[in-house]
Amino acid sequence: MYHLELERVVEEIRSRGADRVLLQLPDGLRPLAFQMAKALRKSTGAHVFLSGDSCYGACDLAVNQARELSVGLVVHYGHSRMTADDDVPVLYVHAEVDLDAEALVEEAAPLLSRWQRIGLVTTVQHVHMVDEIREGLRGRGFTVYVGEGAERAPYPGQVLGCYYRNAQAVAGDVEAYLYVGGGEFHPKGLVLSTGKPVVVANPFNAAVSLMTEDDLMQLAKKRVAQIATVRDVERIGVLVSSKPGQRAAMVAEMLQSRFAEEGYEAVIIYLDEVRAEHLNNFVEAQAFVNTACPRVAVDGVSGVDRPILTVLEAEVVLGDRRWEDIWGDGYLG
Ligand code: SF4
Repeated sequence: MYHLELERVVEEIRSRGADRVLLQLPDGLRPLAFQMAKALRKSTGAHVFLSGDSCYGACDLAVNQARELSVGLVVHYGHSRMTADDDVPVLYVHAEVDLDAEALVEEAAPLLSRWQRIGLVTTVQHVHMVDEIREGLRGRGFTVYVGEGAERAPYPGQVLGCYYRNAQAVAGDVEAYLYVGGGEFHPKGLVLSTGKPVVVANPFNAAVSLMTEDDLMQLAKKRVAQIATVRDVERIGVLVSSKPGQRAAMVAEMLQSRFAEEGYEAVIIYLDEVRAEHLNNFVEAQAFVNTACPRVAVDGVSGVDRPILTVLEAEVVLGDRRWEDIWGDGYLG
């Protein structure tokens, strides 16, 4: 189903003369990891290492592992470039998935029919299908907008779980969005970032559904309650991730100073990944603010027994922003 583009990878390994290669795969591709490593080793003679750490996004680029293993190339699957690659060469392979654009539009059209002006968004797995889907929508009388120009999402219509600039670029023109992709993770982020309704067309199971701000009201209530709780605490852990695309030490230090000004005691905790087993032993911290992936706070971390806020929510606690100004429009930053 995925385009693994092994020939392009082989070509890159050969042209760089890389004799040590680090292969970084998201969970969905790990069942194929041994065969991919074997195929690359056979074709190039290179020593192929598999990265076993998380690979949630290009934010997770395994540059530290690459340095420690002295590899000549990192092959990162499933995402597009998000950050500068420092000194380690990186080949990005999107792991594209084809879909039947005509069938998908046919399925989505009835739910879209209450609107006329539609924004089209998807993930990097399907960005190569955007033109075909747009034509299908136009053929049914919709006016279609595809935002582009976002630095961290370089393909027209592309969104990331934390970054919806291409969607926001056309928010003023559209009444609703068509999101093409699997799961609720991106549509939820899209609603949170634009406040507009989203028709979700899942090409993996041909299901079509609608998500609106009303569906996220439970989440809004929960977030407001957490903000209120954190207002009354004394000690806060400000989390900074070491992942290259999530590192925000300056933001954390700024927050730490602001918390101090407002009478809180805030300490910065530097970690790779926000997980319960890492956080729960910091028993003095009554709450956490996460400067890394904003979805960690919004979607929750299983087993963490104290509130975790995003940076914007922390600014609401500090009185530097109002809740009404962040909810439903740029909520993820
Ligand atoms: S949503 Fe989180 S994991 Fe995904 S790209 Fe953004 S920072 Fe990385």
